[in-house]
Amino acid sequence: MKWVLIGASNIAATRLVLAIRARGDEIVAVVSGSMERALDFAAQHDIRRATTDLTDTIRAGAEAAYVSSANHLHYGQVTAAIHAGLHVLCEKPMTLRLDESEHLAALAATNRRVLAVNHHLPGSDLHAEARELVDGGEIGAVLSARIAHATLLRVDGRTWRLRGQRGGGIILDRTTHDASVLNRLLGTPVRVSAMQVAQATWNQDGGPDAAMVTIEYRDLDDRPILAQTHDAFTVTADPTRLTLHGTRGTIDVIDAMSQEPRGTIELLTAAGRRELRPPQRDPYGIVLDAFAAATTGDGQPTVTAYEGIAALRVALAAEESATSGRVVELAR
Ligand code: NDP
Repeated sequence: MKWVLIGASNIAATRLVLAIRARGDEIVAVVSGSMERALDFAAQHDIRRATTDLTDTIRAGAEAAYVSSANHLHYGQVTAAIHAGLHVLCEKPMTLRLDESEHLAALAATNRRVLAVNHHLPGSDLHAEARELVDGGEIGAVLSARIAHATLLRVDGRTWRLRGQRGGGIILDRTTHDASVLNRLLGTPVRVSAMQVAQATWNQDGGPDAAMVTIEYRDLDDRPILAQTHDAFTVTADPTRLTLHGTRGTIDVIDAMSQEPRGTIELLTAAGRRELRPPQRDPYGIVLDAFAAATTGDGQPTVTAYEGIAALRVALAAEESATSGRVVELAR
């Protein structure tokens, strides 16, 4: 598959360029808002064409676009890429507003293009294993879930992410990822309550850099499940964790909310404690393989546009709750 990169971003440079090429796919162009950045990125990553004009990429023969610009640019760029006839893998959050994401999903469907969101965590081998344990009844009926996703934001990432406006803030950055994992495990989110603060001394922009969110889910039998997330850019040393409590035991997925294929699972039941270390692949490779298969009509992306919208719905409800101080009900 031939790709165009829309966004001369860190995540493209550090993860997706490698993952695309590891599949044997080709990157034919990089599009940036700045010609200087496009040329630098193309030179560093050995990409033939650097441009500020997305329509150029049609001439370059691209079949798919990977959109990884700053969040507020996703909507316009995905629209343009679909109009250019490209399948699109878009970074999270797909857009800043639900109606925009819904419009993109409909646009992709009308144009028979695949639109997927690069939430890499639900498809990772450890999170897939955790779902299998739940589905296999290992911990009984799920009662609650907790996610600890508090790490230190890399110094060169302390730019637009720390601005509350135009797509920044901890909730759109991290809670979206958490919701992509929780939604698939727990069912339908129905109520969200959140608080967020700015606490890092290096956070000059003052946008929220830490948040705690509580979500009530309903399972298929309409039983309530409580979930809680702690997301932060400010915590220097704490392994990430997804903990699932069930009526018969607990699953702990430790250190796996990561860009790396790493971590372990602990299963605690009356039978004792069991550690699982299934083989793990690059989570972005998993996303790309499923995306490529979906473009040939073979299966679904790891996270479809509609699943991306569902994760965004939780995050936007959390932002609304944090701003208003009220619990936000979600339409079922
Ligand atoms: P970056 O800040 O690295 O890049 C975002 C944009 O900022 C680039 O597209 C580029 O714009 C511009 N930019 C990059 N470097 C500079 C610079 N030195 N000076 C001025 N502008 C610059 O963002 P990330 O890579 O961290 O995130 C990009 C997207 O990917 C976001 O949507 C984010 O939420 C998502 N993301 C997803 C992850 C995942 O695991 N799925 C992990 C990390 C991020 P231009 O395109 O115009 O050149």
